[in-house]
Amino acid sequence: MHPAAAQCRDCGSPLVARPVSGQGTVFTYTVNHHPYNPEIPVPYVIAIVELVEQSGLRVAANIVDCEPDSVTSGMAVSIRPEKGAGGAPLFGPAAS
Ligand SMILES: [Zn+2]
Repeated sequence: MHPAAAQCRDCGSPLVARPVSGQGTVFTYTVNHHPYNPEIPVPYVIAIVELVEQSGLRVAANIVDCEPDSVTSGMAVSIRPEKGAGGAPLFGPAAS
């Protein structure tokens, strides 16, 4: 669940955080060309990344370290240590 919550929104059960590898694939994405925030240069990629740990385990993120036009659905990505604008997770192309 992202952002993190103490309880399941479906059944109310308590939730605990578990570490993940930071490896995943781009589930879907869009390339934003509109400068909503003048501090973030356009174009940039907004994506839903599915983590390798579990089918359906997805997180909203930005894709960095590559040309926006090179991003594809299914592309292998890995987490970057820094956070993006507003604390968004940043993923980039996975090392091959
Ligand atoms: Zn539940």
